[in-house]
Amino acid sequence: MVQYVGVENMVRLIAATGIEPYLIGLAGYIEEDFRRWTLFEKAPRVASHSPDGVIELMPTSDGELYGFKYVNGHPKNTRTGLQTVTAFGVLSDVETGYPRLLSEMTITTALRTAATSAVAARYLAREDAAVMAIIGLGSQSEFQVLAFKALNGIRRLQVYDIDPAATAKFMANLAGHGLEIEVASSAEAAVLGADIITTVTADKLKATILSDNMIGAGVHINAVGGDCPGKTELQRDILLRADVFVEFPEQTRIEGEIQQMGPDFPVTELWRVIVGETKGRRTEDQITIFDSVGFATEDFSALRYLRDQVEGTDYYDEIDLLTEPEDPRNLFGLLSAPAAAPRAVLGAR
Ligand code: NAD
Repeated sequence: MVQYVGVENMVRLIAATGIEPYLIGLAGYIEEDFRRWTLFEKAPRVASHSPDGVIELMPTSDGELYGFKYVNGHPKNTRTGLQTVTAFGVLSDVETGYPRLLSEMTITTALRTAATSAVAARYLAREDAAVMAIIGLGSQSEFQVLAFKALNGIRRLQVYDIDPAATAKFMANLAGHGLEIEVASSAEAAVLGADIITTVTADKLKATILSDNMIGAGVHINAVGGDCPGKTELQRDILLRADVFVEFPEQTRIEGEIQQMGPDFPVTELWRVIVGETKGRRTEDQITIFDSVGFATEDFSALRYLRDQVEGTDYYDEIDLLTEPEDPRNLFGLLSAPAAAPRAVLGAR
């Protein structure tokens, strides 16, 4: 039997844990795996592009566990009532190759993206950072905000979205979370005086969400929305004035903000900062950018964390994803005795 965490159980688990404690725990696993960076098998994700979106597979292994995520990115989906990003993932034992956990990863992706952004900001933002601007108030936005609240102490927000319905949804969802939120009339107004700027918009094109004149000294930019070839959010000139930090350069050069730059444009890998091999923020005036695209190890960390959270609880089902013939070579025998085959016990727990 394989453990299965569907959306319903994921929602129950987060409700029982509390989203901020969950984000803090998850961030711990993500940071731990960044510290073990050299152990992991790493490759840019495998992307299948189509005119309106992308479907991607994101595998990695630490030698003991193997994980992968299936994820899509379709910015036009929301116009027809579908989400931009959906995902699921698997965690397997390397020794036997058997999958152990199958999980929803749409909520998990939002959680792990937010936790990764907050971990990066702990090394890259100014220590006195108190105000965050957030441009793009879609699915990812509340998760980003709560991760920055839980891990970076951010309580004051200046927010903007081109769609008033997204803004209304964001404000309703974050009511009662102890935040001071100012809705701005433009992206320019939102970033005014902000110490951290999160861009998390969705459009399959080279957008200019932030232009060079909007960025003052000392700011940390958490650039989340540009994560696909042909999809960026920052004006190129900003990158020339900033120090850029990335997850896995081979993938980020294809998908991140730095796709706008040449192949030799200097970047620093985040894991090197986390292990103390190199410094993140060096001066108060430095502009730092976390060019986030989302890397397979973060999903691996999220699956590992989830596995540990559900162990010994009733927040998972068991499904018969795998055949289990008594004689492992008698697979065919299962077909001649269908009544004896194991049945799914979905929802039975
Ligand atoms: P979403 O479609 O739910 O929300 C996007 C929001 O951006 C919408 O509310 C939209 O109105 C707003 N927007 C679009 N253009 C804008 C503009 N010019 N100014 C202000 N607001 C604008 O999408 P989502 O699930 O929140 O994802 C956002 C982006 O983040 C996507 O591009 C997605 O691919 C990316 N993403 C990145 C990572 C990562 O690890 N880096 C992970 C998940 C999602």
